[in-house]
Amino acid sequence: MTLSHHPSESLLAAYAAGVLGEGASLIVAAHLTLCPHCRGAVDHLEALGGALLEEMAPLALAEGALDAVLARLDTPAAPSPTRATASRLPPPMGEAALLPAPLRRHLADPSAATLPWRAIAPGIRQIALLPRTAGGGNAHLLKIAPKTALPRHGHHGQEYTLVLAGAFQDRSERFARGDVAEVEADRVHQPITDGQDCLCLVVTEGPLRYMGMIPRLMQPFTGF
Ligand SMILES: [Zn+2]
Repeated sequence: MTLSHHPSESLLAAYAAGVLGEGASLIVAAHLTLCPHCRGAVDHLEALGGALLEEMAPLALAEGALDAVLARLDTPAAPSPTRATASRLPPPMGEAALLPAPLRRHLADPSAATLPWRAIAPGIRQIALLPRTAGGGNAHLLKIAPKTALPRHGHHGQEYTLVLAGAFQDRSERFARGDVAEVEADRVHQPITDGQDCLCLVVTEGPLRYMGMIPRLMQPFTGF
């Protein structure tokens, strides 16, 4: 699989430093399962961060902090929420096999072969993966019918999309499985799917602003 669109360096760096929000972390964690190139980059960044911390430790840590850190070494580390290993999940079947493990574990029934889609508009179905944040951000799986345009919309925050099946076109760019689209705040756009169902993960960091009357009426019901 050849990927054309990777997460930005700043997104990977924030992920490696553990400072990304839960939704954006899901985008990166799922992309990493599909992209050895970015996995290598994140490993490198994490090693770099660890080395920097080690260098800084004698200067920056308060008295007693080293003892506290050493004591914690005896405690088994809790698994990170977005990096839980796939080994504890049953092997995926059916449509669920298209979902990377970091996404499947957010489904109500991670072992179900059929995904619990909910129709939200003609040709568009969704599954909420994370509860909506106080700031209006959210994470959804979307399944969009072939040749369907999403309502034209802008954002109050960043929007991230990871394609899991099919493809879509956004302006002059095409995004297929594994590709990540980052759309900055205030850019209005209208992606349109290719000739097959498009399954993707969409994360927004703030509420969307729909353009036009009908999409605005949809606003209370949709989160993408
Ligand atoms: Zn990548």
